[in-house]
Amino acid sequence: GIGLVPTMGALHEGHLALVARARQLCRRVTVSIFINPAQFAPGEDFASYPRDLEADCSKLKTVGADLVFAPSAHELYPEGFATRIEVGGPAEGLETDFRPHFFAGVATVVAKLLIAAKPDVAVFGEKDYQQLLVVRQLTKDLGLPVKIEGVPIVRERDGLALSSRNAYLSATERKIAGQLNAVLADSASRVRSGAPIAEIESGSADQLREAGFDEVDYVAVRDAQTLRPVSSIRGEARILAAARIGRTRLIDNMAVTSA
Ligand code: AMP
Repeated sequence: GIGLVPTMGALHEGHLALVARARQLCRRVTVSIFINPAQFAPGEDFASYPRDLEADCSKLKTVGADLVFAPSAHELYPEGFATRIEVGGPAEGLETDFRPHFFAGVATVVAKLLIAAKPDVAVFGEKDYQQLLVVRQLTKDLGLPVKIEGVPIVRERDGLALSSRNAYLSATERKIAGQLNAVLADSASRVRSGAPIAEIESGSADQLREAGFDEVDYVAVRDAQTLRPVSSIRGEARILAAARIGRTRLIDNMAVTSA
């Protein structure tokens, strides 16, 4: 079959892990590289987002991608384009509270990419955990004939999740950034040991501010499938966070399974 790995380019080992997974599952692998203007709000980093198509293509050669699809904005959104796909369910809350138009932009472009590439499998990272669930909801609701495969987060040695946006961090900010994963790991183990969830959420946000984050958008423990708030962890839960250092907004998440 055909595997599709949608990306915004500036590829790193996290993206390459998705391609490797697609290779395991499919005979042919297409990687799309498209910085989707529809998922950026005015004032966000669309203009400064890192772009390096040549470097991306040589990385993709080393991991055995067969085809790179790098359309222009005009190709995907010709003049007169007027459709927007709005997903509910897992798209509600978390990222949506801070980037209200983000998932409509994602859902619309992912639907277009899936229809254009007709993959049997599309591979997404757990790095963007809410996005992964939104894409699952989208393909299920629209009846798109594709299997959505999730891949675990690839991290630096100190735990920082690889991200194209890490390139924005100064050396000082980079040290602070590593604390996001450390704080989440600590919070996850406190959830497991039965501490009240609301306390953990606000305590973790305080810890992040003390570590040097300028703003904490959220730290939240949610049901791992629906992303609805949970009051205790039966079943599978996920702790998710978004926080800012200077002009850089970082997200991370991890599984919280009961003992
Ligand atoms: P992006 O180019 O940031 O839009 O990401 C494209 C795909 O790569 C998405 O499915 C992301 O979740 C995934 N991805 C990005 N960073 C990582 C990472 N560190 N580990 C695993 N997947 C990732």
